[in-house]
Amino acid sequence: MKGKPLADRIRAEVAEEVRVIGHIGLVTVLVGDDPASEVYIRLKHKAAVEAGFDATDLRLPTETTQQELLDKLAELNASDDIDAILVQLPLPSHLDEEQVIRAVSPAKDVDGFHPMNAGELYLGRPAIVSATPRGVMALLEEHQVELDGARAVVIGRSDIVGKPLSHLLQQANATVTLCHSHTRDLERHTLDADVLVAAVGRTHLISADMVKAGATVIDVGMNRDESSRKVLGDVDPGAMELAAYMTPVPGGVGPMTIAMVLQNAATAARLRRPAAIATPKN
Ligand code: NAP
Repeated sequence: MKGKPLADRIRAEVAEEVRVIGHIGLVTVLVGDDPASEVYIRLKHKAAVEAGFDATDLRLPTETTQQELLDKLAELNASDDIDAILVQLPLPSHLDEEQVIRAVSPAKDVDGFHPMNAGELYLGRPAIVSATPRGVMALLEEHQVELDGARAVVIGRSDIVGKPLSHLLQQANATVTLCHSHTRDLERHTLDADVLVAAVGRTHLISADMVKAGATVIDVGMNRDESSRKVLGDVDPGAMELAAYMTPVPGGVGPMTIAMVLQNAATAARLRRPAAIATPKN
């Protein structure tokens, strides 16, 4: 279940949408110089430029104060040229992440992290949903994986992946079990899963013998192995022998996340400026 072919298609569709709308302004905000965050920001910015967005790569120094960051976000919120704001997390430790997430206008919050967007998802009427869970759902749909009545097990309950994904799966009529670090006998749950999603951040936590034959396995994990410098998943690749479908790492969920960020930005522009869409430039 490779992510790149579908991600490429979505990115081409978004590029077409940007062309029709004429202008979509996207700002990525990176505070500090964390190397992993730097890579993610570069990838998102490059993808946005390739899709024709008016993309701004805003870099702020590590010493940026909470107030300076909040003032900058208020400025971006107020700018009519900006449709989408992405603040790269984690922030340097002196900054209050929760307050920053709340400071991005929900209409421009293309990460879907604002409590308003998270709440709409919880209530089953989402507008903008976090990109990685949407990417997982798009992959499942593309491969026509049956979710209605299926047993779905999500491992990891973070606000950005596990929790929103568990809602989307439940809204697709799967019976969802959400596992975490306090779950007893993890294997009992994983072996029961028709659809198994690992979003933990522990290399090969899920061994092949924890996967049910014929299951669909989505590996969200991206763990850098310091000795080989490779990126490894949360699931042992040996599980591919048993699974009906399984995403590779890298090249599975990762490319989908980027594509869905861009799609979210196009959605934000459409929702915020319906007139721009009603009167396309050509
Ligand atoms: P996170 O915020 O650290 O959350 C990890 C979750 O895993 C927590 O809910 C934690 O439980 C649970 N967990 C930890 N150890 C466990 C164990 N032994 N058994 C069962 N559950 C366990 O991580 P995240 O931000 O969701 O990211 C998870 C992984 O996905 C990371 O590798 C990250 O790099 C990757 N990721 C990939 C993409 C992509 O585009 N491919 C996007 C986002 C994240 P508690 O809640 O009890 O602590």
